[in-house]
Amino acid sequence: MATAGTTTVTPMMAQFLEIKSQYKDALLFYRMGDFYEMFFDDAVAAAAALDIALTKRGKHNGADIPMCGVPVHSAEGYFLTLIRKGFRVAVCEQLEDPAEAKKRGYKAVVKRGVVRLVTPGTLTEDSLLEARRNNYLAAFATVRNEAALAWADISTGEFHVTSCPLVRLGPELARLAPRELLIVDENEPDCADIVSDLDVSLTPLARSSFDSTSSEKRLTALFDVNTIDAFGQFSRVELSVLGAIVEYLDITQKGNLPLLRPPVREGAGAVMQIDAATRRNLELTCNMAGGRDGSLVAAIDRTVTAGGGRLLEKRLSSPSMDLSTIGARLDSISYLLEKSKLTAGLRATLKKCPDMDRALSRLALDRAGPRDLTAIRNGLGQSQQISKRLKEENLPPLLGISATALNGHNKLLDLLDAALVAEPPLLLRDGGVIAPGYDEELDEARLLRDEGRGIIAKLQTEYADQTGISTLKIKHNNVLGYFIETTATHAAKMLSEPLSEVFIHRQTTANAVRFTTVPLSELETKILNAGQRALSIEKRHYAALKEAVLAVSDKVSSAASAIAEIDLAAAFADLAAGEGWCKPTVDNSRDFEVIAGRHPVVELALRKQGGAGFIANDCAFQPGGGASIWLLTGPNMAGKSTFLRQNALIALLAQIGCFVPAKSARIGLVSQLFSRVGASDDLARGRSTFMVEMVETAAILNQADERAFVILDEIGRGTATYDGLSIAWATLEHLHDANKCRALFATHYHEMTTLAEKLSGVENSTVAVKEWEGDVIFLHEVRKGAADRSYGVQVAKLAGLPEAVVNRARVVLEALEKGEREGGVRQKALIDDLPLFSIAATAQPSVPAKSSAVEERLNETQPDELTAKQALDLVYELKDLS
Ligand code: ADP
Repeated sequence: MATAGTTTVTPMMAQFLEIKSQYKDALLFYRMGDFYEMFFDDAVAAAAALDIALTKRGKHNGADIPMCGVPVHSAEGYFLTLIRKGFRVAVCEQLEDPAEAKKRGYKAVVKRGVVRLVTPGTLTEDSLLEARRNNYLAAFATVRNEAALAWADISTGEFHVTSCPLVRLGPELARLAPRELLIVDENEPDCADIVSDLDVSLTPLARSSFDSTSSEKRLTALFDVNTIDAFGQFSRVELSVLGAIVEYLDITQKGNLPLLRPPVREGAGAVMQIDAATRRNLELTCNMAGGRDGSLVAAIDRTVTAGGGRLLEKRLSSPSMDLSTIGARLDSISYLLEKSKLTAGLRATLKKCPDMDRALSRLALDRAGPRDLTAIRNGLGQSQQISKRLKEENLPPLLGISATALNGHNKLLDLLDAALVAEPPLLLRDGGVIAPGYDEELDEARLLRDEGRGIIAKLQTEYADQTGISTLKIKHNNVLGYFIETTATHAAKMLSEPLSEVFIHRQTTANAVRFTTVPLSELETKILNAGQRALSIEKRHYAALKEAVLAVSDKVSSAASAIAEIDLAAAFADLAAGEGWCKPTVDNSRDFEVIAGRHPVVELALRKQGGAGFIANDCAFQPGGGASIWLLTGPNMAGKSTFLRQNALIALLAQIGCFVPAKSARIGLVSQLFSRVGASDDLARGRSTFMVEMVETAAILNQADERAFVILDEIGRGTATYDGLSIAWATLEHLHDANKCRALFATHYHEMTTLAEKLSGVENSTVAVKEWEGDVIFLHEVRKGAADRSYGVQVAKLAGLPEAVVNRARVVLEALEKGEREGGVRQKALIDDLPLFSIAATAQPSVPAKSSAVEERLNETQPDELTAKQALDLVYELKDLS
């Protein structure tokens, strides 16, 4: 792009170029009246990305200047599109009234400046955010041997940090799903690789942004404390990432810092670790295609507030490792489950709670509207209702803490109640936000504005009485404004004393004389200014109310968190009641004992389809002395994957502090959850499916500790039989001998079932099927023992493979099995013996016998010797034969 200073540059363009030079990697939205305009390369890029018209405006160095623009009122939608397409946007506003600029001279340019950088991690507008998802901005840095990750959601104020070695960065990012990650520029290559398959945009910053000393200063200043130790002990690198976030927010919000809560340090081992592949496989928060349908969260989400929905997603992403936390959460659910009437009442009230967190953050960033104030008012009002309902209750600890946080907002609530109308307009500039009766001056201003004509009419009657001139009128025109008019005949009376002392002569026309009075001109000024005055009074009150809210933002935000907590507990209680889930016991053992467990998502799907219900199954591990690994065999479609996943989900649900779909469950704390499926298609990432399978398996074998819970579904499937079998075999041995973790291992390699004899912790189990008249019936029952056969051919038949192929497969299978019985060496010879894949060998039954008669008759025929009549007869004859 050209630089400023050339002779052809207009003052406005010079200003544009000057500002643009400071925001080279953002699109500059340059405010001009009711539009944001973009110029030069920005315009070209934005026009293409937004699919809007590219025009031109003036010339620069002899060439046309490309330009495009979007209306200010619909800019939010455009921000979102641009951000999704990987751009960032610098919003440049007019910083003064254009009238001010004019005073400086005819050619003076309105002062402008960037007021905000819109980036993926710093969004606050409801229209740009998903209500039920957090929108995190994260920062990662390494200092010598230490590394840390911090994350903040400026739309809710959360602020966290944890130590995080580079190898853990991928899983942590998968857990938090931040939209934007700040990194030290020199770390970019490493990080780019790690985030390549995550939906997060990387923002490299200079090392200086991560300087821990300045970070500490930034943090102490932000939270107004002498030392950051007030919030706990943070390492240098933790401080540096926390500080980087604060600095970045300062840059992007242009000094308008959001309301961040004090940073909370998440200790190592505080949450169950779940890597990205496992999250995908278990479809925790989205299905394989990226949507919400069919995910665990969609099946279990019964929250009724946005905050509750976000809390659920957060819990699902980070199941706890703390027994007392888990226990306390479960106790809240038990309590609410028992008090079903209370819970139903709470949920009805909760439904009316607006999203206070996000309203609060917009108020802090000066990006709010009147409805954010009413959201706080309504939210606090509902909080009070809930608190009243809970007053008489003997609440368990967690609910007790939440109930307390809902209290103590009376002063603010009274203020907002008195000051705000029930349903204000979207924009403050439209007025009508402050309630009547709150301020006399405002009421008066509005009265004048709305009822000005009425007041004038009253005055007219008064003056008619006073002068005794019944025809006296008060009129209005654009030149004089309001005036009193009488006919020329009455004028003399008004022009002489005593009336002339009150009525001031303004104008005499052909047949009328016009006057004014001091009260009338005062009234006029009042009426003319009333609208504007009302608005400015409203603005003053709005600002004061906003300050009043922000002054107690900590408490409001605690109330919002309490609402989310209560909502989630009540939603879990509702779920447990509706679905017949049980309270799990989570303990410090490594046991796992689920009686009659179910898969929440599959069960729901089956119910929707109607037909037979879900078959519950048990699962048990006792790594101390009993089994730690179940080797699961059974035909395809029997329910192996479902069984594997349901147990992983039950462990996860128990540790987020939720009831579980089972009759009873005792879960020894799970530190890491791994789920892998053999040969999943991953062509999009350009790696061979087998390679992906092996990379993912390697991650488990290298990382799983004794408390891990692993489910492996058909590992080895992605390669040749013997390779696959050997790999599956060795993997199972390693899990048993080295990782010593609990594992469910589904395989179609029957050979592996002999491992149960060799390895003490391995137990065979199978999903039962019944064979009936050559068909297979799935019982979906998991039993001890190995599957006797794989029933692949029967399953193929069920799937609708042509009968000829199914019959042929039976023949081949029999031959192979016979060969196996007679010794593997002969197998190959046997296969060679089979007239493999010759359709004729198996297809006879389906060849219609009569067609050969037709063929025979045709063979006898000499076409050249046939007359036309004979040929026709032959056609009839053949038709009879066919
Ligand atoms: P596999 O992994 O053995 O091929 P899946 O676990 O994919 O089998 O299950 C196949 C289908 O069987 C599922 O989509 C579901 O409809 C049904 N199914 C699985 N488990 C059960 C069960 N316990 N009760 C009822 N239906 C089940």
